[in-house]
Amino acid sequence: TSNVANENNYLMVKPQYTLSYNRSRATANWVAWRIASTWLGSTSRQDDFRPDPDLPSGWYRVGDTDYSGSGYDRGHMCPSGDRTNSVADNSATFLMTNMIPHLPANNQGPWAQFETYSRDIVAQGNEVYVISGVHGNIGTISGGRIVVPATTWKVILVLPVGNNDLERVRRDTRAFGIVIPNQGSIVTTWRSYRKTVREVEELTGYDFFSLVPRAIQEVIERRVDRL
Ligand code: MN
Repeated sequence: TSNVANENNYLMVKPQYTLSYNRSRATANWVAWRIASTWLGSTSRQDDFRPDPDLPSGWYRVGDTDYSGSGYDRGHMCPSGDRTNSVADNSATFLMTNMIPHLPANNQGPWAQFETYSRDIVAQGNEVYVISGVHGNIGTISGGRIVVPATTWKVILVLPVGNNDLERVRRDTRAFGIVIPNQGSIVTTWRSYRKTVREVEELTGYDFFSLVPRAIQEVIERRVDRL
């Protein structure tokens, strides 16, 4: 909720994405957004990493240099490449509340590949719902302020372009996820890390796609994706 007392699961709704902020981690728990052709254009990366001015007053605001020298990338949750329709929308992806300490081999490897793959799905006449987040704790950076996650995860749901999306989710709707370690050696192929939605739910404790009728969730969340 957007109640500041709820400081480790604080809802922030932006035009470009929605997130659950965790004050004790100084990162989001998760970030959710939609990719559709209307969000995609030719705007270049703005690279204007900066504190999020919408955090409640008195909370530490992670700045653009807080990850410097840590060995971790400032890893986008909602990617710059998913918001290229305008300067303002691309710039919003560089708010530090959209960043996590991301192992470079993960961020620049299978994670980046899966971001591209998700946009390729959109280019084929679809829209994609994405929820992405962190799990676990393998230490901190920035003098103990920012928690480094043990794993990073993502789930996606694919629909053909259209309206009334919730009503269009059916038993044959494609939905699956990835879980990638944020430590150790990482292979480049995102498919090596593919999971069912249900597996990501069991890891994180979240109920994804909870507005979809339960009987449909049971089918699409258990289906093993092989495409
Ligand atoms: Mn679910």
